[in-house]
Amino acid sequence: MKKLLVASRNQKKLGELQRILAGSPDLRDIELLSLNDVPEYPEAPEKGLTFAENALMKAREGAKYTGLPTVGDDSGLAVDFMNGMPGVLSARWAGRHGDDKANLDLLLAQLSDVDEPHRGAQFVCAIALALPGGKEHLVHGKMPGRLIRSPRGAGGFGYDPIFVADGHTLTSAELDPDAKDAISHRGQALRALATVIAKTLN
Ligand code: IMP
Repeated sequence: MKKLLVASRNQKKLGELQRILAGSPDLRDIELLSLNDVPEYPEAPEKGLTFAENALMKAREGAKYTGLPTVGDDSGLAVDFMNGMPGVLSARWAGRHGDDKANLDLLLAQLSDVDEPHRGAQFVCAIALALPGGKEHLVHGKMPGRLIRSPRGAGGFGYDPIFVADGHTLTSAELDPDAKDAISHRGQALRALATVIAKTLN
């Protein structure tokens, strides 16, 4: 079986990536590995100014140190009223990487006096595939919607409990995992990349 490394340690995000890849018929014969399945290597801090830069950096790093085709992703929430922030800072908006609750609480406080028509936001995702030989491929996905005032739902992660996608009434934390995958920024990007992964690896 061919191996594909997904260069992430975020268990919830990893779960989503693995679920979406596993659902792709072209990728049934590919074994997905995470950073927990390969020998540790020096991971550079996420310092890119764009999602694409960070995704490419993670993918290149994985391919370089493990010799495996590697998928790197970077994603975040771009809030209209905040000119696209938290953006690449989404995971550490409140100062500490990965503190989802602190990030969400801070964002809600910052938007407390922003009225409904101006509460638009979108989740954005860049996913890169890097091959040990140096070939690369990059895709993007977007999920537009709006931010509500108090969290709802226990699914998903990050800002999901305050995000309602366009055309929906449930937050992304209230959607079934499959329903979120079908419309999510990550789902769109990964389905686009799945064909490329299948062609390249098979
Ligand atoms: P990354 O690990 O640098 O890609 O961090 C992405 C951050 O953006 C996460 O920690 C979340 O705060 C936020 N984020 C990205 N995708 C989602 C999503 O699907 N739902 C909720 N939050 C997300």
